[in-house]
Amino acid sequence: MDKKADIRGTREWAVAEVNCSRGCPHGCRYCYARYDQVIRRQLIPEADWLKCCDLPGEIDKSRPLYDGQVMFPAAHDIIPENLESCVKVIGKLLGAGNRVLIVSKPHLDCIQRLCREFYDCRDRILFRFTITARNAEILSFWEPGAPVYQERLMALRSCYERGFITSVSIEPMLHREDVVQMVYELLPYVSHSIWIGKMNRIDTRVSRVNAQFDKEIERITLGQSDQELRLLYEELGHEDKIRWKESVKEVLGLPLATKAGLDL
Ligand code: SF4
Repeated sequence: MDKKADIRGTREWAVAEVNCSRGCPHGCRYCYARYDQVIRRQLIPEADWLKCCDLPGEIDKSRPLYDGQVMFPAAHDIIPENLESCVKVIGKLLGAGNRVLIVSKPHLDCIQRLCREFYDCRDRILFRFTITARNAEILSFWEPGAPVYQERLMALRSCYERGFITSVSIEPMLHREDVVQMVYELLPYVSHSIWIGKMNRIDTRVSRVNAQFDKEIERITLGQSDQELRLLYEELGHEDKIRWKESVKEVLGLPLATKAGLDL
């Protein structure tokens, strides 16, 4: 078995992934979960992806103690419509003694609810907010239904100020020209790490429906070229909280993770 192939994507962060919904109104155009569930496995029609439906069997079931950090969610997000279900699942994971990595394009109200609910477990929760760009036009093209930058920043700051462990995922990096300035705006509210990664498998996961897509894809591709990634490493490589996803490590010749869930 190819060991390297096992430690890609979310395996760099967690030994297991837990989900309790299907579909996501954020509608990100690069979404792997949509590609996997709508196109590859055809579990739901395209038109239903933007609705978020609970998976009842996943909400009330008991959870084991995993042998490392567990990620929730990985194939949907935490939104007002499924917040109570998410609270239940996170509660069960924490109740079993797990360390939980909560990954989200955060809705401030949802995150504040989680902070209140799980304050006493904050040493076993790592929040990781996906903040891919600051530019409103770019965000509304690629992530049309997700919270705006300011809301994500406020969620990050609010968790940090409450004493939770905080991190950011800039994956995919949507705005190369602004990423360094964005990192320096976010760093004061990050206690753990900022991960930077490429948009992967653009040709299979992003459906090009008009000329604007072609233009945007060309812009993203140029921004994550080998040359740009090397320049970015020169600009940010000295920051101890910066982590490079496997897609970038390969270009830079950095060692790949050898074990799942190390989050390093
Ligand atoms: S927030 Fe995540 S699950 Fe939802 S559409 Fe975007 S990438 Fe997919």
